[in-house]
Amino acid sequence: MPLPPDLKHQLRTIRRDGNGGWGPETQGKAPHKPIMLLAVLDLYEAGHLQQNLIPYDEVLLEAFDHYWQRCSPGRPTNPLQPFWYLKASPFWRHQAKPGFQQALQALVTAKAKVPTRTVIAAQVAGAVLDETLYAAAMDPVGREELRQAIIAAHFGAELREALAHQHRVVVDSFACAQALRQQAAQELHDLFHGTGALDSAFMAESRNLAFRRVVVDAYAHHCAVCGATIRTPSGRSAAEAAHIVPFSRCHNNDPRNGLALCPLHHWAFDQGMLCIDDDHRITIHPYARAFPADQGFIALHRQAMRLPNDPRYLPAAQALAWHRKEIFAKAG
Ligand SMILES: [Zn+2]
Repeated sequence: MPLPPDLKHQLRTIRRDGNGGWGPETQGKAPHKPIMLLAVLDLYEAGHLQQNLIPYDEVLLEAFDHYWQRCSPGRPTNPLQPFWYLKASPFWRHQAKPGFQQALQALVTAKAKVPTRTVIAAQVAGAVLDETLYAAAMDPVGREELRQAIIAAHFGAELREALAHQHRVVVDSFACAQALRQQAAQELHDLFHGTGALDSAFMAESRNLAFRRVVVDAYAHHCAVCGATIRTPSGRSAAEAAHIVPFSRCHNNDPRNGLALCPLHHWAFDQGMLCIDDDHRITIHPYARAFPADQGFIALHRQAMRLPNDPRYLPAAQALAWHRKEIFAKAG
């Protein structure tokens, strides 16, 4: 299905900011909007999006960030901006949640700054594509033509291979996450055996993305140790997916070999400065408990960890025991 010329023209003429010192790899302009569209197409390809409604959620944010890090590594960005300002294109509009039609209309016409994530979450059900673009996004051939048209119009030749790679990583991460969730529904016999199949089926980057998504989702983005769920204004959360037994030791991304942790407690866990007992209580290393300045950390001693919402994702006793013996007891 060849793309209609009108749609091609609309994609080519997406308004992009020319300030900010962008190089030839993004044709001298800000790549936010094309990256947002590439992320959306991936979510359709992966089956994560199945209707003409694109919510601003963690999954979209994560896909956007994955492309962004390849195009503009280290440069700060707020993905809410392209999600909001794509409304300047004829193919993208926002759908209000019930009861918020007028409030959203006022926001759209006010030409104010991009709303906060809190406002978007309260008032906006999602973005809606026009029928022609949506039909193309749902069709495998049309979707690939869309991707190629967006890439050709907005990126330099030096980024095209990288964008193709990111595309595969993002799309495959959904199949890998599905495999991990299925794995967690089955009994776990031995963490150290029997998981090589996933290793060979998916690239490491896809496996990492999938592991993080499944584990962090299981804890609703809370740190299992301190409960923190800190987010940036655009919605990025501090939660990381920690392997209980390092991947290098067991090659196992089973979600039960994972804990959602904030960066501080991820570090402390990996260093053996805390461990989790079989009753899911936290033990702070005796060495750390001797420093009065670290009261906030010491106060976690013997507290119950925050459990995943679904008991299928409870950390494996075998993994926690290994961590206590090999990491906590040998902390140096
Ligand atoms: Zn924490």
